[in-house]
Amino acid sequence: MSNSDLKSRALGVLRRFYGYNSFYPLQFEAIQCVMQGNDAVVLMPTGGGKSLCFQIPALLSDGCAIIISPLLALMKDQVDALQGMGIPAASVNSAQSDTFNREVIEQVYAGRIKLLYISPERLLSEIEQWSEKIKVSLFAIDEAHCISQWGHDFRPEYTQLATLRQRFPSVPIMALTATADRLTRDDISQQLGIPNARLFMTSFDRPNIRLNVVSNVSSSDKMQMITHFLKAHHTESGIIYCMRRNDTEKMASRLRGQGFNAAAFHAGMSTIEKEQVQTAFLNDDIPIICATVAFGMGINKSNVRWVIHSNMPKSIECYYQEIGRAGRDGMPAEALMFYSFGDVVTLKSLAKDSGQEAINMNKLKRMQQYAESNVCRRRTLLSYFNEHIDHDCGNCDVCLNPPERFDATILCQMALSAIVRTNQREGVTAIIDILRGSGKTDILSKGYDKLRTYGIGRDLSFASWNAYLLQMLQLGIIDVAYDDYNHLHVTQYGWEILKSNKHVMLSKFSYTKPAPPAKGSRQKEISLDNMPKADNELFELLKETRLAIARAQHMPPYIVFSDRVLDVIARSLPTSREEFAALYGIGEKKTEMYWRPFTATVKQFLEKHPQ
Ligand code: ADP
Ligand code: ZN
Repeated sequence: MSNSDLKSRALGVLRRFYGYNSFYPLQFEAIQCVMQGNDAVVLMPTGGGKSLCFQIPALLSDGCAIIISPLLALMKDQVDALQGMGIPAASVNSAQSDTFNREVIEQVYAGRIKLLYISPERLLSEIEQWSEKIKVSLFAIDEAHCISQWGHDFRPEYTQLATLRQRFPSVPIMALTATADRLTRDDISQQLGIPNARLFMTSFDRPNIRLNVVSNVSSSDKMQMITHFLKAHHTESGIIYCMRRNDTEKMASRLRGQGFNAAAFHAGMSTIEKEQVQTAFLNDDIPIICATVAFGMGINKSNVRWVIHSNMPKSIECYYQEIGRAGRDGMPAEALMFYSFGDVVTLKSLAKDSGQEAINMNKLKRMQQYAESNVCRRRTLLSYFNEHIDHDCGNCDVCLNPPERFDATILCQMALSAIVRTNQREGVTAIIDILRGSGKTDILSKGYDKLRTYGIGRDLSFASWNAYLLQMLQLGIIDVAYDDYNHLHVTQYGWEILKSNKHVMLSKFSYTKPAPPAKGSRQKEISLDNMPKADNELFELLKETRLAIARAQHMPPYIVFSDRVLDVIARSLPTSREEFAALYGIGEKKTEMYWRPFTATVKQFLEKHPQ
């Protein structure tokens, strides 16, 4: 097949099944590579469109493609999505009965299945039996970072996949991952024994995710900001990451107390409880999950609209992965992270006890630099992954609300002298109390009210001092003695400021509550064409239509249509089958199944609001 033939056939399949008109960057190149019989490693961020890279070759080739996936939930999700588009896909797994699994294999023998999803251990134990009888078109290894011991999600069963190349020398192998960690990436082709694989790597930027960081707010203010945020996003789903199991429970129950529909999720819960929470989230029954980082792997839900970190994560890799769960459909999404002095102290002590102190302290430092960044956060984030962009993103808190800098020399000197006068034997709270002239017995009993620095900083709030001390820590003016009750110490640089009037600039602390988005959170048009903005009321009505269909068919709403497709419908107002069929993201099968209910909703809306 010539290249132009391949391209037109691939585009035909793309339109017919998926309802898309063009490929995302490198999708066609990756498809072409395996169609020519070569191996490929595909590195794209979440939402980058990896699945199509193996699904289209599967549809264009004879035989059946085998997709290796580590998690049952992911397999189920993909199989549901494919079947929903009219593509013959199936999976063999332990959640299905033996009889059912056998039937699936019979279907594969009969050539009726184009994509078969399976776990690595099952594949390796069963493939001898089938390999004679089926023509394998392609092996696709999803979540391929699981093969690397460097990664955050090493799975020993993946390492045996190295035998695939030997056993099936002529079947192309495609490995795919969204991991941004370089060591892991480099390891993949080696571990899989496909040294000649071509690499397809796109930018890891996720421009639709708005990045926000809020530093140093008291815990009651934090809670208030979270509820404020949730109210502004009340029709949307999202995840609140908490540091400890206990925090997830507390957060969920406080939110429920305020009328939000929230549930906790952590590794200490039973499998059944966890599954229930996860399913309720996927089905849009419970929109808010308060979770430890245990939640998220295996969550393919494309309409997660926001992610909140109630504490700073321990590394940029973790942070990137966690915020990446938002906005997979490419529609605007929000990431909001809270960051405090206390987080740094806790995470440092965890890093110290981790057994890999040097590495983890360094990761933490990079994470802190991100949180403290006074330049575009996206640039800071991407530069960590060695990707450099030459412009500010315009979609992070720093770009949208640049910090004001001021000469803080005197302010620093006040704090430094308070630290010196306590003989560097107090932590941050006592120092602030001294500066603000607190009457706490603890302060008075130590005679701190007699110090010359007592009360000299009472013009600033506790939160402001906290923020400035944190910046001083970042700048290396003070240090926290983690091995000595977290007492504050003055560094060499700090002494210079104290003695020689060396100037210091700090960023002005202002209480930046994340601005409530205009309407829902679909405030920023980053989508497709220059079509007019979707009507929010119609969008919500379409969501209801989608939910009703999803409930009736027992599948998650995002499998029926992504938010992005609903947005397109809301903006293009299709009232006929033809108009509906022509839209982005609507293939033949979905046209057939859904044009009536959705165009009916549009018509009802138009009757109420003549355009
Ligand atoms: P990944 O597996 O890389 O996270 P997916 O394959 O799930 O990404 O794709 C993310 C979303 O983008 C899905 O909703 C998918 O249907 C959509 N998508 C993928 N390729 C295209 C394309 N060429 N045009 C439009 N949408 C696409
Ligand atoms: Zn920016």
